[in-house]
Amino acid sequence: MDAPADSKRFFVRRINDEAGPSQQQAQVLVVRTRESFANFKKRAGEKLNIKAERVFLQNGAEIHSLAETQNNDVLYVASAGMQPRQQETFHLSVLGAGGVGKSALTLRFVRDYFVQYWDPTIEDAYRKTVDVDDVLCMLEILDTAGQDDFDCLRAQWMADKDGYILVYSMDEESTLKELQPFFDLHLQLNENKNPMPPIVVVANKYDIVKQDPSKLQVSTDRGKEIAALYNAQYIETSARTGQGVDEAFKVLVREVRKLRDPPAPKPKWCFLL
Ligand code: GDP
Ligand code: MG
Repeated sequence: MDAPADSKRFFVRRINDEAGPSQQQAQVLVVRTRESFANFKKRAGEKLNIKAERVFLQNGAEIHSLAETQNNDVLYVASAGMQPRQQETFHLSVLGAGGVGKSALTLRFVRDYFVQYWDPTIEDAYRKTVDVDDVLCMLEILDTAGQDDFDCLRAQWMADKDGYILVYSMDEESTLKELQPFFDLHLQLNENKNPMPPIVVVANKYDIVKQDPSKLQVSTDRGKEIAALYNAQYIETSARTGQGVDEAFKVLVREVRKLRDPPAPKPKWCFLL
């Protein structure tokens, strides 16, 4: 169904809440183009059961008028409680051997679909606004792709980042070993940083090994062991089903936040009464 000529149709969604985008259906909302933005927010809020306060396009840009939208746009609506602190931004890169699913994970997270085939040479950056623990933030995600193993390229991908996602594939043992050069480079590039950017180790293609356990080449224990060596969190994902994908990015955001806002120091003295 197309919207009438003087109207636009939108798919409105709550900004990523903990249920994750895949579990939450977008609601269709048709608005007259001359309708006020305030009225649009009110109606979007009613559809989504929230008090709508801020509206974002799929690329993460905040909008303040319907003129900034196009027919059939997906709009993300944030409620009053989800205020960003000064639009927190996180620069992340997704690293790992070719074919492990770096692009599939990134596109699943950013656009919520699975790509069967994605040009393996494409390196691209994506932006997404997400709600992590009721605080909105902007993620700038670099999906890396290198046919040639030039260290200088890797250093470029890893420089000036707030955190890294190191991906391997559970059905291919060699891809776990291929994470080591990234970790070595991390130590080298960030040795003077205190704290160092955190890492999340992602074991991808979980759906494949779940369906056919004979394909499993890297056990959960082995993956966790490597993650512990890297002082990293460990998460199993499937870009195909979406399992664990949101979680992987959110865990990384939480780790970065912990370093940015360390908990208040514990009092040194303890008085016994
Ligand atoms: P990249 O080189 O690391 O960016 O890998 P791609 O994202 O291009 O993925 C390589 C291939 O693995 C593609 O055919 C994807 O469709 C497939 N793939 C990626 N992630 C998954 C997954 O979680 N499950 C399954 N079954 N296939 C995946
Ligand atoms: Mg790729």
